[in-house]
Amino acid sequence: MKLVKHLANLGYGSRKEVAWMFREGRVTDANGEVLYQDDPLDHDNVRVDGQPLDPPPGLVLMLHKPAGYTCSTKDPGRIVYDLLPPRFRLRNPVLSTVGRLDRDTTGLLLMTDDGQLLHRIVSPKSKLAKVYEAGLAEDLRGDEAQLFASGTLVLEGEDTPLLPARLEVLGPRRARLVLHEGRYHQVRRMFAAAGNRVLALHRPQVGGLELGGLPEGQWRQLGQADLDALF
Ligand code: URA
Repeated sequence: MKLVKHLANLGYGSRKEVAWMFREGRVTDANGEVLYQDDPLDHDNVRVDGQPLDPPPGLVLMLHKPAGYTCSTKDPGRIVYDLLPPRFRLRNPVLSTVGRLDRDTTGLLLMTDDGQLLHRIVSPKSKLAKVYEAGLAEDLRGDEAQLFASGTLVLEGEDTPLLPARLEVLGPRRARLVLHEGRYHQVRRMFAAAGNRVLALHRPQVGGLELGGLPEGQWRQLGQADLDALF
């Protein structure tokens, strides 16, 4: 791929805008030698205004999503892309969220431009564990763990039962729930089916990957060791 196209794909501008950046001498190699738009691509050796390029395609990141942000590109309110470098929204292939968290859910959100990886994570076959911590409006009744583990619970408006899920009681109105699927508003609807209401929802972990100390609103790029932990 030509350098000019690579930079346009990374969101540095339209092809025309990027072509101007070359003419202005803003694109150099690591030694400061000016590069030309048709030069062969050597990602790690390219600088724009002296800065290394954004990560190449194959980007996977985790974001500690705060409440109040939607997993959408179009919502008129705050969106998770607002928490990333502005160029990340302009990339091709597109950087997508891996599944979604509700606007008011906090926690671990994966994002990637790797369609195969995305599919591998969200596919019902993956059965990847998603761990949630829920704050509830009412005291737990005591039968929820059995109900959620039964594999027979059918959510309102659906006809396939949920896969068995593990509930751990953390307090009278706090529980940890481990799911192996991801249906629409699943945690909220499960607690509604048990006569309760979720007031706060946090996801600390997906597969073997934990948020760890990543502060709310911050993100980090994932490497092979993280992906190994995920599956
Ligand atoms: N289940 C929900 O109800 N909401 C989320 O954001 C994630 C899982």
